Amino acid sequence: MPGSAPSGDHPSAGAEGEPKPPAVEVVRSARRRRTISAYRSGERIIVQVPARLTRAEEAQWVERMVRRVLAGERRLLRSDDELVARAAELSRRYLDGRAAPAAVRWVDNQQHQWGSCTPADRTIRLSRRLVGMPDYVVDYVLLHELVHLLEPGHGPRFWAHLAGYERLERARGFLEGVTAASGLPAA
Ligand SMILES: [Zn+2]
Repeated sequence: MPGSAPSGDHPSAGAEGEPKPPAVEVVRSARRRRTISAYRSGERIIVQVPARLTRAEEAQWVERMVRRVLAGERRLLRSDDELVARAAELSRRYLDGRAAPAAVRWVDNQQHQWGSCTPADRTIRLSRRLVGMPDYVVDYVLLHELVHLLEPGHGPRFWAHLAGYERLERARGFLEGVTAASGLPAA
């Protein structure tokens, strides 16, 4: 379960929970004639445009394509099928594709944990309480459970698998904050 190991102290972490807009990298290609594409690469969104575009056209397209990528990422998290696709992408990006779950789904009955993994049948469940949290937080929980397919405990080898995730400490801090807040006695 995420958040059960000490996270250390991050006094200067600043603006927790408010994801900053992604950095955008524009790649102008002379070989590209018409097609414009955009995709996420870690913290950045790469937009590929034909070199013939004017700077003004490029700016318009970049804005449009970045919006499209971000909207796609928000949509990604709503159904089980899309969760499966997201898991495959995270496994590919951070674990060389080694974590291959048989099923990934949202569940409503996990009040005390964000996610769980059953290595015996390679199933992963994520609490629906995560819906609406920032994508980097949901990705962290999903990646955390994917790593459990490779490493059952929370020892150094477990955390080594997660070391490549750029927003690891930020996501853990976010969840600790939510847990602390929900642990307060009801007024
Ligand atoms: Zn865990």
